[in-house]
Amino acid sequence: MTLTRADALVDHAEVLVVGGGNAGISLAARLLRDGAEDVTLVEPSPVHRYRPLLNYVGVGEAPVSALERPMARVVPRGCRWVQDAVAAVDPGASTVTTGRGRRITYSTLVVCPGMQEDWDATPGLQDAYAAGWATSTYVPGAATLVWPALQAVREGTVLFTVPPEPAPCAATALKPLFMACDSWRRAGVLRDLDVVLALPEKQVTGVRKADARLERAFERYGVRVLRGARVARVDPVLRSVELSTPTGSRQLDDLAHAHVVPHYRAPRWVAGGGLGTEADGGRVDVDPQTLRSRRHEDVWSIGDVASLGTSSSGGGLRKQVDVLARNLAAAAKGRRLRRYDGFTVMPVTTSRRRLVLVERDRSGPRPRHLPVRRFVPRRTTWLFDRYGLPVVYFRRLLRGKV
Ligand SMILES: Cc1cc2nc3c(=O)[nH]c(=O)nc-3n(C[C@H](O)[C@H](O)[C@H](O)COP(=O)(O)OP(=O)(O)OC[C@H]3O[C@@H](n4cnc5c(N)ncnc54)[C@H](O)[C@@H]3O)c2cc1C
Repeated sequence: MTLTRADALVDHAEVLVVGGGNAGISLAARLLRDGAEDVTLVEPSPVHRYRPLLNYVGVGEAPVSALERPMARVVPRGCRWVQDAVAAVDPGASTVTTGRGRRITYSTLVVCPGMQEDWDATPGLQDAYAAGWATSTYVPGAATLVWPALQAVREGTVLFTVPPEPAPCAATALKPLFMACDSWRRAGVLRDLDVVLALPEKQVTGVRKADARLERAFERYGVRVLRGARVARVDPVLRSVELSTPTGSRQLDDLAHAHVVPHYRAPRWVAGGGLGTEADGGRVDVDPQTLRSRRHEDVWSIGDVASLGTSSSGGGLRKQVDVLARNLAAAAKGRRLRRYDGFTVMPVTTSRRRLVLVERDRSGPRPRHLPVRRFVPRRTTWLFDRYGLPVVYFRRLLRGKV
């Protein structure tokens, strides 16, 4: 093992970052660039993933190797990496305990372990994945199975879902739907298919003009949209899915394939340690503007696990990391804290090669003053999302250049 360096020595950390995903690595790198001397990262996985590419892996547009890097290569130089998982936090004693029983005290704790699949919320779903009848691009182990499964479908009913909040960048779950519809249309089989979308809310993004574009795309491909619909139960033997809807439950039987994204929740130790509440998906209860815990002054949180009153995304992290890095410095000097405006992004493909990029903050759509027409699906935006952003991510964002 090459990079559990100094790991054996750590028992106190000035800044302790939990989770080496998009949030944790970018923040650790940024703090070290800003001159921090003692940054420790707790992260169990030997592999780092650029999750947005999972959707492209799922539709045969990217190999898995394009999104994965050894964790040892992305942990920033000068950061101590403890390769272990946090199992409990005691904010009163400013201590975390890892799965291997190690205790680490901290002066400042940044909680960013992301969200995890809540298989218990949907009985039958995990078995349906194991049987290969249900898949989704959201589950790394299933992403490579999605395209072969969808390509094999030539008739019958296919279900796609958008996961209910809280979920990582939920709107991008439409990418496989539109890319598959376009492919089926080109193959001449779309008219033999009944494509159903279970949408947890009435609209996808809440941005009027963008939603109007997406509605047109649904019509173009003949997608039947069930609004306010969530997957309640899956039967992998009967290949049926039960949805809960505003008017009661609804059963979809004999499905040819189910692209069902699991529901998500925060790791249980977050609420268990009193950093948040189960009612909020177990997420960390922070001031959504300053990113500081409302309960413990030395605890902060960003990324998917933070309850920020906006839909989560890697794009949003560009702003969160900057605000948090500045706020940690400001808090140390007793200065005024900066504010995160809830900026987030939702990139949605509307065909195999076009993408509409939706950006918004808490006050509405962004950017507000561009001379170009917004929310128009473009090939250039698709190319940037697929090929440009991964380069920006690995070369700039993970190196703290946000
Ligand atoms: C399929 C998919 C497509 C997406 N598409 C887009 C997109 O197109 N654009 C966009 O902007 N965003 C997109 N996102 C969202 C984006 O990937 C997330 O918002 C971002 O990864 C969140 O970063 P994070 O660090 O909070 O969580 P993650 O990236 O999930 O990282 C969390 C890390 O914490 C670690 N961890 C977990 N538990 C523990 C523990 N107990 N102790 C220590 N470490 C722990 C994990 O191993 C992981 O490395 C997508 C997400 C998915 C799943």
